[in-house]
Amino acid sequence: MKQQYIIPIFVPHLGCPNDCVFCNQKSISGQKKNPTKEEVKKIIEDYLKNIKEEEAQVEIAFYGGSFTAIDEKLQEELLEVAYEFIQQGKVESIRISTRPDAINKNILKKLKKYKVKTIELGVQSANDYILKRAGRGHTFADVKRASKMIRWNGFKLGLQMMVGLPESTRIDEINTAKALIKLKPKMMRIYPVLVVKDTKLEKDYQEGKYEPIPLVQAVETCKELVRMFANKKIEVIRVGLQNTDEITDPQANGSQVVAGPYHPAFRQLVESAMWYDAIVAKIKRLNVKVKEVEVTVNPIDSNNVIGHKKENVLKLKDTYDVDLLLKQDENIKQGKSKIQITKTYHDFLEE
Ligand code: SF4
Repeated sequence: MKQQYIIPIFVPHLGCPNDCVFCNQKSISGQKKNPTKEEVKKIIEDYLKNIKEEEAQVEIAFYGGSFTAIDEKLQEELLEVAYEFIQQGKVESIRISTRPDAINKNILKKLKKYKVKTIELGVQSANDYILKRAGRGHTFADVKRASKMIRWNGFKLGLQMMVGLPESTRIDEINTAKALIKLKPKMMRIYPVLVVKDTKLEKDYQEGKYEPIPLVQAVETCKELVRMFANKKIEVIRVGLQNTDEITDPQANGSQVVAGPYHPAFRQLVESAMWYDAIVAKIKRLNVKVKEVEVTVNPIDSNNVIGHKKENVLKLKDTYDVDLLLKQDENIKQGKSKIQITKTYHDFLEE
């Protein structure tokens, strides 16, 4: 299989007609100004220099703002730069992220011309009231219309949703996931809401009108959502905002995060929680009082099985008095496991 690479190009807040309550694109993308076409060319060239494999599959991704809502001339300039690399055979495709109300027939035609393959839509919620409270400026009907157009025109569809928006509950978030599954995306991103400096949400938070969800709740909800998407074979490509110098621990110097369920290894917390549930479910099914269990997994999964700071090992011991032994085996598929009882309570008493 070809090694896949993504060259990220951040286009912060460019032309976005909105001011969503949670958004300060400058901090979220870690970038203050928009790149020129010369800068974009340089970013791509620098990335390509570091890709050694001849057979690599490279994609250029315009992340950040609402790409198809930016000034058309600039849009074409940026796409043209990226397209040149496709023509030279150095890059395979382009990916963009945008708003659902910035998608129409002509826009899709243009994206196709420049070999854009994947379009990601910021959805955030399937509930119109919550969308309005978040200042999104579009409805869920816009999301459905745009998603269908994207798929019918042969693009890969990616969707993004949020957890912990103002007045959103866990049920709303699960309902959003159910509604998004029906739109048949190929991939998902899930972001717990953080209170970022210089946003409407920060003001609401300071005035006591918004309370972010605690980290445990964010992990529990995201765990449920990841499971729902995984059951439908929809790849979850990101859980939690990318850590940058600005999106970091609220206590850190220069952090733009004021409050909220921030954790440097948020995805690991979610995946570890999923492994913990899976191990406990298997132990319970065994119908024997377990004292020690050996879990064999692919080396890629071992950190998640153990948990962040050995959380799963400690929790199993505390809650069920079970010792967890980890074994790695490259022959086991990622995400799969072999669980063996290495000691029952009976063995333990006989010792
Ligand atoms: S639409 Fe996107 S870029 Fe614009 S304010 Fe909202 S989140 Fe930020």
